[in-house]
Amino acid sequence: MAEEEKEEIKSFKDLGLCDELVEACDSLGWKTPTKIQVEAIPHALEGKDLIGLAQTGSGKTGAFALPILHALLESHSKQGYKSAPVFFALVLCPTRELAIQIAEQFEALGSGISLKCAVLVGGVDIMQQQIALGKRPHVIVLDEADRLLNEDFEKALDDILNVIPRDRYTYLFSATMTKKVKKLQRACLRNPVKIEAASKYSTVDTLKQQYRFIPAKYKDCYLVYILTEMSGCTSMVFTRTCDATRLLAFILRNLNIRAIPISGQMTQAKRLGALNKFKSGECNVLVCTDVASRGLDIPSVDMVINYDIPTNSKDYIHRVGRTARAGRSGVAISLVNQYDLEWYLQIEKLIGKKLPEYPAQEEEVLQYLESVTEAKRLSQMKLKEIGGTKKRRGGDDEDEDIERYLGVKGKSSKKVKRK
Ligand code: AMP
Repeated sequence: MAEEEKEEIKSFKDLGLCDELVEACDSLGWKTPTKIQVEAIPHALEGKDLIGLAQTGSGKTGAFALPILHALLESHSKQGYKSAPVFFALVLCPTRELAIQIAEQFEALGSGISLKCAVLVGGVDIMQQQIALGKRPHVIVLDEADRLLNEDFEKALDDILNVIPRDRYTYLFSATMTKKVKKLQRACLRNPVKIEAASKYSTVDTLKQQYRFIPAKYKDCYLVYILTEMSGCTSMVFTRTCDATRLLAFILRNLNIRAIPISGQMTQAKRLGALNKFKSGECNVLVCTDVASRGLDIPSVDMVINYDIPTNSKDYIHRVGRTARAGRSGVAISLVNQYDLEWYLQIEKLIGKKLPEYPAQEEEVLQYLESVTEAKRLSQMKLKEIGGTKKRRGGDDEDEDIERYLGVKGKSSKKVKRK
């Protein structure tokens, strides 16, 4: 009998979590723990350090947040609420968006126990962050942790390790075990238990993956065809460059497809603004660079389209991991043109399978050619026009104008304040 068949389905209570947290999971609609949660939580509750290898969407935030909250509640009950520990846990993660999402999960899980959480990230007013710290939060979340793994930042990492208590629990979670992560493991963990919730580069079974060989000149046309065929779905369209996200968003808008771009070039406030439009359903197509392939918590994406094939095949795994999450089904379609073939073959090698072709009649697809070509011409003109305005105004912010035109607004962008 296969190992998995022998396993009975576990509940959050079976994992040893206290009633408050079992209730919190229930109120979030988390019916049963995910694989990484089943494997990680009991070890963490025993006081072990952990290394967890799990993909985006596997529930890994819960896998480390729940034991932290459990330990916090235990120390509350031992020491009484007044002397309850502040600065109980520090979470380091790579991006600002991820920091915010992790904090949101902590707050959701801790809403019944008055949990205080502070997010300290780059690009936010320092006073605001001091006030957040002054409220003596239980959990602090910091961004840009991946930079700490670069050699230049070794000293910064040492500084952090020197000021946090030696007697502590450390959990290290990553989608892949890279050399840098291994190094960090040696530096900070004591006798960790290693948990792997999925084989290194596998994709989940509920994900339907397809490819389509197309001539580069028909790429936009195929994209529009697929998005139109799947118009009731939420989709993420991945491009290689920030400029391409904007041009594509313009083209799609022109064709009445509710698209919104997100890229690393946008300010933090605008990235969150775009993400919120997508999350709220106001836009159902998110045109993005790989900035959105990792970490961002975007629920229920039905389809991922690789408009540009990733040059690094591991990015493919991250991108398609945005769909078919937590047991749901999803589709990933890769548009492969004559220049991408090499990269596409590397992806098939990495995932260890040949994918089926996306079925479409080329004549049907090409019915869109005329309108797509016109939409592209108009979009390029509009982008040029906005660029021209920028020159006339003498170095004003072109990106600002383009994003405003696309309806991407930020709440408090420093860039907006002009004298
Ligand atoms: P993560 O891998 O931590 O980014 O989590 C991905 C998504 O899965 C988040 O939206 C979580 O709210 C959700 N999630 C985490 N654990 C569970 C669970 N046990 N059951 C259902 N959804 C979950």
